[in-house]
Amino acid sequence: MTDYYSKHFTKTLKEDPKDEEAINAKLLIRAGFIDKQMAGVFTLLPMGLKVVNKINNIIREELNTVGCQELFMPAFQSKELWEKTDRWNTDNQVMYQMKDNSGKEVGLGYTHEEVITEIATKYIRSYKDLPQAVYQIQTKFRDEPRAKSGILRGKEFLMKDLYSFHIDIKNRDKFYEKIKEAYKKIFKRIGIDTVVTSASGGTFSKYSHEFQTISESGEDTIFVCSKCQSANNSEIINENGKNCKECNQELVEKKAIEVGNIFKLGTRFSKVLGLYVADATGNKKPVEMASYGIGPTRVMGTIVEVSHDGKGIIWTKSVSPYDIHIIQILNSKSEILNNNKTSNSKFKTEEIVNQLEKADLDVLVDDREGISTGEKLADADLIGIPYQIIIGDKTAEDEVEIKDRKTGKVEIVKIAEIKKIINN
Ligand code: ATP
Ligand code: MG
Repeated sequence: MTDYYSKHFTKTLKEDPKDEEAINAKLLIRAGFIDKQMAGVFTLLPMGLKVVNKINNIIREELNTVGCQELFMPAFQSKELWEKTDRWNTDNQVMYQMKDNSGKEVGLGYTHEEVITEIATKYIRSYKDLPQAVYQIQTKFRDEPRAKSGILRGKEFLMKDLYSFHIDIKNRDKFYEKIKEAYKKIFKRIGIDTVVTSASGGTFSKYSHEFQTISESGEDTIFVCSKCQSANNSEIINENGKNCKECNQELVEKKAIEVGNIFKLGTRFSKVLGLYVADATGNKKPVEMASYGIGPTRVMGTIVEVSHDGKGIIWTKSVSPYDIHIIQILNSKSEILNNNKTSNSKFKTEEIVNQLEKADLDVLVDDREGISTGEKLADADLIGIPYQIIIGDKTAEDEVEIKDRKTGKVEIVKIAEIKKIINN
């Protein structure tokens, strides 16, 4: 698929957005990936949506592979339902709550345990209906008090939330480990490093696990063992002390961004919402549950935080909005006076685009007229697609200059070899 930048809905902006400190927001806004409406509220512009969709599809592939099914729940939440679990009043600091015109009170979901558990009571009746695991990628609303980390902390943001249902703790724990492994694969494929961090598990289990990406801009503090790479967050440190239990090694304090969190819920929701099944002997028992979150929009911001330089964003290959950014150098003299095929970069671009499309690569062509080469190159560095191809009339007909955005290295390669370079 090929898009032409002259026709693209957004263009790069010259100036940093006002009232934004966070690097992720500054770069994503300037490069045309997101727009800020107000603190913590963002639009995903066409290129931003491409990135998020690629993140989401990696998540979907890995979760579907381990037997999870996708659904989509409403953002509106019934007060009566949340009163059953006692969260309507206790969580009103984070949950947006309002009255409609008839005076009926409703909330906006910041998590979906109540809704999914109530739905599950309609379908899960016996141990034969278990296990189940369902997820959604959906908009969450949270009245976050400190919306100052750009897209890392939205008041409205995307979350992938997965809920699993099991006959007993043993089966639940086995599935929990399976999802932990799936999460490792997801973040690896997305291209960010994560440390699995033990965090407090609340009342139902000793620990929950956070997937933390080490970054100075993170709001969390974690303590990482330099030997085994296991980590504890600050709550656990206060309980267990500053040494790694397994290695007896001192833990190193780091700032980190929580990109994912997995949680054993026990029977907290199944008991109050009536999700019971009959086991093989006919005994009724509450279903064991767990929940698993990833924030795709926070993940996008995290990639920018850990992968940028003074010139702009450097996307990882798997989630970059395009595989290649073609910069067409329109030298006015050769374009206008010399209309023969070999020296005309427009013709050459078309030929290359054809070949790249055949190779199933996604291409952005900067075909703008009246924009200097320097400006196009700076924009390409800001947007951050991993490979840039500069098409002028210097190189031979079957060759192009390809630049690696990360290393800045420029190579002259045969057009037929481009796909190989990108894929390795
Ligand atoms: P935090 O401690 O950062 O506030 P949390 O522990 O409350 O997050 P969870 O309820 O575990 O978050 O949500 C699951 C995932 O959703 C998080 O791991 C994160 O990736 C994402 N997420 C949570 N809050 C936000 C937010 N305000 N903006 C963007 N993503 C978020
Ligand atoms: Mg969390």
